[in-house]
Amino acid sequence: MSIDLHVHSSASDGTLPPAAVVQAAWAAGVTALAITDHDTMDGVAEAMAAAERLGIELVPGVELNTDRTYGEVHILGYFIPPDAHGFYSLLAQRREARVQRGLKMVERLQELGFRISFDDVLRVAGGGAITRPHVARAMVEAGCVASVQEAFQRYLYTGGPAYVPRDPFSAFDAVRAILEAGGVPVLAHPGRMTEEGKQLIPALVEHGLQGLECYYPEHSPEETEHFLALAAKYDLVVTGGTDAHGPGSGHDRRIGSVSAPPGAVEALKERRERLVRQGRRS
Ligand code: AMP
Ligand code: MN
Ligand code: MN
Ligand code: MN
Repeated sequence: MSIDLHVHSSASDGTLPPAAVVQAAWAAGVTALAITDHDTMDGVAEAMAAAERLGIELVPGVELNTDRTYGEVHILGYFIPPDAHGFYSLLAQRREARVQRGLKMVERLQELGFRISFDDVLRVAGGGAITRPHVARAMVEAGCVASVQEAFQRYLYTGGPAYVPRDPFSAFDAVRAILEAGGVPVLAHPGRMTEEGKQLIPALVEHGLQGLECYYPEHSPEETEHFLALAAKYDLVVTGGTDAHGPGSGHDRRIGSVSAPPGAVEALKERRERLVRQGRRS
């Protein structure tokens, strides 16, 4: 039995449709699951229906990737209500920026001599938010590279020859947007951040961060201990998730293979209620 609070579907760069993600989670013994796609909550309704059929709890979520001089900081947002219109238009804006960025990455690849078009990327994305993995998969399909890994390692890595940065957005903006929407902001995979990024944690807490993803497949036991201590120090909800992207994604992590502690979902709900009482919701 496990609680997986960080999983992607084909609404962004996961390879499985939302209902299939829920099915895979259920088969792996997951009792509570959060769908946390990049810049979209379009997969939540389908996942919710599947979760109801299978009798597992589905937590609505989203992942906002931010990057500045301190490197990548990813903020998860849980329990954003369906009527948070301002937040959904922010997501729509960010997805549109992802389309423009995808076009530029394809141009770079064309300049590098690859016969690939943006339509190939759109086809691979199947209506989901456009991400680098879609560009990578389109490159594999077009025979430009042998694998998604090769596409990243040679062309799409941050700063790579076909890399284009995402629209600028700060970790603080992400926390603020989630709070204003009535959701609960949680820092994703802190172990993957730069040292400079990790130094931001106290300031993020000051800005209303509510939780820390202590349990994560790439965290060493020492890192997990360290982040558990930080969560205790700053009174943050301890969460955990696999960041599974599905088979063929190039970096699949087995869904349900790490777990948030029992009670994590209830703790997030309590934070949501507390924030509403405090009037953090605008
Ligand atoms: P983007 O937000 O469009 O820049 O895409 C970032 C996504 O790329 C991350 O969320 C990961 O899922 C994925 N990613 C990053 N590095 C790799 C890699 N080496 N292989 C496969 N996927 C990757
Ligand atoms: Mn991803
Ligand atoms: Mn992330
Ligand atoms: Mn993720």
